[in-house]
Amino acid sequence: MDPMTTYDLIVIGTGPGGYHAAIRGAQLGLKVLAVEAGEVGGVCLNVGCIPTKALLHAAETLHHLKVAEGFGVKASPEVDLKKLAAWRESVVKRLTGGVAGLLKGNRVELVRGFARFAGPKEIEVNGERYGGKSVIVATGSEPAALKGFPFGEDIWDSTRALKVEEGIPKRLLVIGGGAVGLEFGQIFHRLGSQVTLIEYMPEILPASDPETAALLRKALEKEGIRVRTGTKAVGYEKKQDGLHVTLEPAQGGQGETLVVDKILVAVGRRPRTEGLGLEKAGVKVDERGFIQVNARMETSAPGVYAIGDVARPPLLAHKAMREGLVAAENAAGKASAFDYQVPSVVYTSPEWAGVGLTEEEAKKAGYKVKVGKFPLSASGRALTLGGAEGLIKVVGDEETDLLLGVFVVGPQAGELIAEATLALEMGATVSDLGLTVHAHPTLSEGLMEAAEALHKQAIHILNR
Ligand SMILES: Cc1cc2nc3c(=O)[nH]c(=O)nc-3n(C[C@H](O)[C@H](O)[C@H](O)COP(=O)(O)OP(=O)(O)OC[C@H]3O[C@@H](n4cnc5c(N)ncnc54)[C@H](O)[C@@H]3O)c2cc1C
Repeated sequence: MDPMTTYDLIVIGTGPGGYHAAIRGAQLGLKVLAVEAGEVGGVCLNVGCIPTKALLHAAETLHHLKVAEGFGVKASPEVDLKKLAAWRESVVKRLTGGVAGLLKGNRVELVRGFARFAGPKEIEVNGERYGGKSVIVATGSEPAALKGFPFGEDIWDSTRALKVEEGIPKRLLVIGGGAVGLEFGQIFHRLGSQVTLIEYMPEILPASDPETAALLRKALEKEGIRVRTGTKAVGYEKKQDGLHVTLEPAQGGQGETLVVDKILVAVGRRPRTEGLGLEKAGVKVDERGFIQVNARMETSAPGVYAIGDVARPPLLAHKAMREGLVAAENAAGKASAFDYQVPSVVYTSPEWAGVGLTEEEAKKAGYKVKVGKFPLSASGRALTLGGAEGLIKVVGDEETDLLLGVFVVGPQAGELIAEATLALEMGATVSDLGLTVHAHPTLSEGLMEAAEALHKQAIHILNR
C-alpha cells in the first residue's frame, strides 16, 4: 500500500462548519485537508439558507408591490419562474465559488469524495488513505422523513421545494411549523399556491417565545396562509383530484380530509453519520444519532472533533460556523470552548428572531422575571416602511436588572437581534439597553423602548 499522506488537520465536510474549521486551522498554521462528497458550501449555501433567502426576497418584493398600491405605486407584477431560478442559482454559485476560492487562498487542500474512517485518526476517500493529527467531522444533516409520507414526486423535502421553476402547485400542504416550513409556506403562498401549514405542537416555533410566535402566525394567517396548530398528518391517498391527506388533532380524535396537490415535509433534520465508520474511530453518538461532544467540541475519541448539525441542535449555520472555529483552535493547541448565545431567525415577513431565555426558561432558571414590550404600531420607522406589525419583547431579571432574552417579530428582526446578542454577551442590564442612544427613526429604537417599558418608562407607549 502507498504510504499514507498525513495532515495536521482533516476536515470532513465543507458546509458552514467545515469551511470555517478548515480556514481557521490554516490561519493557525496547520496543514489542512478538507473532504467534500457533494457541493462545496454544504446545505446552507447550496440548498438551505442562501437559496431560501433569495426566494423569500423575490416573494417579498412581489408582495411589497401589492402593499405599495396603498401609497400610490401601481404595478401589475408577474413572475418569470425560470428567471427567478436562474438568479437563485447565480447567487448560490457566486457564494460557493467564493468559499472554494477562500479554501484555496488559505492553502487548504480539497479532495472530492465521500470520507469514511479507516482507523482512529485515519480516513479513506476514493480508495486513498489520509492520516490526520486531528480530524473534524462536519458532515451536517439531511431532511428527516415522516411516517406515512415517504419522499417522492408528490412528497417534497426542502431541496425539492426550492425548484420553483418546475411549477407552483395549486394547493400545497406544509407539514411542520418550524423555520423551514414557515419560510417555504410563505414563498409558495406569495408565488400563488393555496397553502395550509400544520404543526403538531400548540403553537408554531414551539421551542420558543409563544407570544411573538403567535403574532407571526397571525400575520401569516392574515396574508392568507391557513395555519393549523395542534394538528398532525397521519397519511394520504393519491386520487384523481389530488392527494387526500388525513389530518387529526395532535391528541387523536376526529379526523378530516384535506385535498392538496403537493406536500412539503419539514418536520426536522437528522444528523448525517451513516457510512462514516464512526465505530472505527471510537466516536460515540447519542440516542438521537448526534455525535457526542463537549464544550471544546471534542468527541469521545481523542483528537477527533465534531461540529455543526452532526454534533447537536440547534441546527443553525452560525452555530456550526462558530463551533468550527472552536474545534480548529483546539486542534491547533489553543484552549477554546463554545459558550455563546445563539440567536435564531425566521426570514418570513414579518421576520421573527430570538436570543437568550424565554420567560418560561428564565422562570425555570430561578430568575424573577420581568418583561418589557414595545409594539411596532408605535414605531415611526415601521409606519414609514408601510407596515406596523410586530413586537419587541425584552425579558429581564427584576432583582439584578440583568437582560436575559430578547424576542422580535417585525421587519428586519434578524438584523435587530444582533444587538440583543451582543448585549447578552456583554452581560448588559436592561438599563444598559435603555440607556443606549438609538438613531431615530429606526426599528432598533424599539429595543431601547422595550427596555424602558420593562421599567415602566417607555415614551411612545403608555406604561401600565
Ligand atoms: C431549507 C433550509 C434553510 C435553512 N436556512 C437557514 C438559515 O437561514 N439560517 C441558518 O442559520 N441555518 C439555516 N439552515 C440550516 C443550515 O443549513 C445548517 O445548520 C448548516 O448548513 C449546517 O452546517 P454544517 O457545516 O454542520 O453541515 P452542512 O451544511 O450540512 O454540510 C455538510 C457537508 O458535508 C458533506 N459530507 C457529508 N458527509 C460526508 C462525508 N462522509 N465525506 C465528505 N463529505 C461529506 C456534505 O456533502 C455537505 O456538503 C437551513 C437549512 C435548510 C434545509
